[in-house]
Amino acid sequence: MKLILLGPPGAGKGTQAARLEENLGCTQLSTGDMLRAAVTAGTEIGLQAKGIMARGELVPDEVVVSIISDRIDEPDCASGFLLDGFPRNVAQAEALDLMLGEKNLQLDAVVEIAVDDGILVSRIEKRASETAGGPRDDDNAESLKNRLVVYHEQTAPLIDYYKNKGILKSVNGMADIDNVTTQLEEVLKQR
Ligand code: AMP
Repeated sequence: MKLILLGPPGAGKGTQAARLEENLGCTQLSTGDMLRAAVTAGTEIGLQAKGIMARGELVPDEVVVSIISDRIDEPDCASGFLLDGFPRNVAQAEALDLMLGEKNLQLDAVVEIAVDDGILVSRIEKRASETAGGPRDDDNAESLKNRLVVYHEQTAPLIDYYKNKGILKSVNGMADIDNVTTQLEEVLKQR
């Protein structure tokens, strides 16, 4: 299955993607994880992305589009993949459409994990306090504020983008973790 998980920072995309990877056998592709690995490794992309990520802004589209295009070609994506954190804006979504067309692949579904802004801040504060090795560079109040603005201005329009294509599903991300997983499995069964 080829899926996109959409949702604001702190919606639980990473947690749910890891569970779906296990339950559905599709490879989780998190651009945030890949970029953090590049920052840690000190690669050219990592050096370019470090400050942008710490401020909660978006890394240039061509960088993430190229990372995802290469990654989808890897053998572990042949049985399906789950995009977590990509696309992040309409330009990336259009680039993804083009890329999938060229690779003769088609998305099965896009699932929005809907969560009100009010509870995201406390969730991210909790994640920051529980992250082994210390919080992420962007799990702080200033950066989070920016990430939410970026989400609403640039990423949320993707909800209509995929609704218009007839492949959008939505689950209530404010339920507990197990319940959200059950909802995801239910909506994916209904395809
Ligand atoms: P995430 O782990 O998905 O919350 O992403 C952390 C940060 O990585 C974001 O705030 C961006 O700076 C960067 N990032 C991750 N995915 C993308 C993307 N698809 N496009 C641009 N920047 C991204």
